[in-house]
Amino acid sequence: MINIVEVFSSIQGEGLYVGTRQVFVRLAGCNLACTYCDTPNSHHTVKNALVERTPGKRDFAQLPMQFSIDNLARHINSLLAVPHHSISLTGGEPLCQAKMIAELLPQLKAPLYLETNGTLFQQLALVLPYIDIISMDIKLPTVTDKPYWQEHKEFLLLAARKNVFVKIVVTGKSQQTELQQAFELVASVDHHIPVILQPVTPVNGCEAVLPDVLLFYQEKALTLLNDVRVIPQTHKFMGYL
Ligand code: SF4
Repeated sequence: MINIVEVFSSIQGEGLYVGTRQVFVRLAGCNLACTYCDTPNSHHTVKNALVERTPGKRDFAQLPMQFSIDNLARHINSLLAVPHHSISLTGGEPLCQAKMIAELLPQLKAPLYLETNGTLFQQLALVLPYIDIISMDIKLPTVTDKPYWQEHKEFLLLAARKNVFVKIVVTGKSQQTELQQAFELVASVDHHIPVILQPVTPVNGCEAVLPDVLLFYQEKALTLLNDVRVIPQTHKFMGYL
């Protein structure tokens, strides 16, 4: 069985593929506790999962959160009646259920897009053959309880075998030294990997980053990397799921 929070069709609001139509499969569970987390439901065992019946209509059915692989694949594929760019596996941290995902993915009928916090590299190896695009976060130590530099490096080395981009959420508390370390980490794997600097959407009392500071960070990144873009969470100001 696989634990699911919600399944629905919407617009990708973040990163390199912003604006594309995706089926979102939000999996339960996460191995981190970021200060700005906007999906706290993903951390707890929810009683019921919300599963959209018609793509984009928000006609959710409440179903028990534990799905068999075959049943979940059927729900996801039914939303592909409308053309979609890809299926986004998101969370929480999808790789917390990597073994189950590896069984699910061969049954899905659209390209597969993994949104991940970029720390569970051994679990990534289990699903990598099935994944088309990876949106990998680098988590700065100021938003997690400890640094994950080594895990991120191992993860990116594997992810670079696929179409990968890196996303770094920047807050008012981010430090230049940790951002510099993140840029150097990406450059050490491949300086062509696109990097998205995402100004934090202030939640949980999280402090926003000032525009001139963000521009300064982008300038620093561009001395090491070819493609560095600043993109906020667009679905938040559009009011989309
Ligand atoms: S990795 Fe994602 S889901 Fe997990 S705590 Fe951080 S922001 Fe929340």
